[in-house]
Amino acid sequence: MVNMARFFLDFTAKESCGKCVHCRIGTKRMHEILTRITEGKGKEGDVELLQDLCNGIKAGALCGLGQTAPNPVLTTIRYFRDEYDAHIREARCPAHECAALKKFSIDPAKCKGCTMCAKKCPVGAISGTVKQPHVIDQSKCIKCGQCVATCKFGAVAIG
Ligand code: SF4
Ligand code: SF4
Ligand code: SF4
Repeated sequence: MVNMARFFLDFTAKESCGKCVHCRIGTKRMHEILTRITEGKGKEGDVELLQDLCNGIKAGALCGLGQTAPNPVLTTIRYFRDEYDAHIREARCPAHECAALKKFSIDPAKCKGCTMCAKKCPVGAISGTVKQPHVIDQSKCIKCGQCVATCKFGAVAIG
């Protein structure tokens, strides 16, 4: 939901004609804050800041675009506040939607050591020998998800 709000603000920030200061600058600031949150760089107080910006933009916008631009943010905060808190306080995306917050790992109990994921990984982040559990080097992983799609044994988890 946080990423969905960010997606809508990206659109409205680009579509703002710039006539009203609240809409022109406010939507950009909101998009920046939402982007930060989806990257795990959110801070305490960001939600309240977003709400303040939403109210300011709604009050100061001259047309429907600016008046409705904050709605996806206000609605997702209202009904999915726990998702915002998980991103900000735990750097965790409960929906596994935010790429920067995904962490791929291999369950050694499920891994058969078939080596397929290591062959498919585009950056060589997976190592292991045949018939032995493989491991992912988090410092190399670019979170492409190829290993999840490749493993036939459900051994790769997304955390
Ligand atoms: S509220 Fe409407 S008129 Fe004002 S800057 Fe936004 S798009 Fe332009
Ligand atoms: S594809 Fe799955 S079973 Fe095969 S090595 Fe990778 S994690 Fe293990
Ligand atoms: S997510 Fe992509 S880069 Fe990361 S270990 Fe899996 S295949 Fe490699």
